[in-house]
Amino acid sequence: MNDVTPKSSGQIFCPSCAKPVNQEAVICPNCGVQLKELKVSSGSMELQSFDKNSTGAHFMVKTDGNTLAQHVRDFLKSEGYELENGSILKGGYTKGNLGKRVMLGPLANLYKFNVEITEKDGIANLIFSKGMSGFSGGLIGVSKMNKETERMRMKLYNTFSKK
Ligand SMILES: [Zn+2]
Repeated sequence: MNDVTPKSSGQIFCPSCAKPVNQEAVICPNCGVQLKELKVSSGSMELQSFDKNSTGAHFMVKTDGNTLAQHVRDFLKSEGYELENGSILKGGYTKGNLGKRVMLGPLANLYKFNVEITEKDGIANLIFSKGMSGFSGGLIGVSKMNKETERMRMKLYNTFSKK
């Protein structure tokens, strides 16, 4: 009887890059793709500071960078945003179906946000900012994008517990 768990039983293969990853992993460490669904857990992370600015907001949260990145990704997903470029630690999210956008071209209603998450001394920093691709910039309209930015940053703010 061999009581050593075979290495393969604790691993799955990433559906995106096909590399073996730990079955407990929520995101693939190789390519950053999401492997498991995570619910947006309200109140589990404590907000240390929150500053609004002209392009979005800066959040400081008592957690690690990956946990915050997953939280933000899940929040954005619940709002219909999908990661379009980069990784969940530094990437761009868009709302609106990519196929529809290609089909409709400049008429597609496209909102975009950029996230950048860093970590220092047990505090994760998030810079959440509106993104304007050349594709969508003038088409959505500045006021519509600003409204969406305000709505999204406050909604995101409400997903954190407060001191
Ligand atoms: Zn992968």
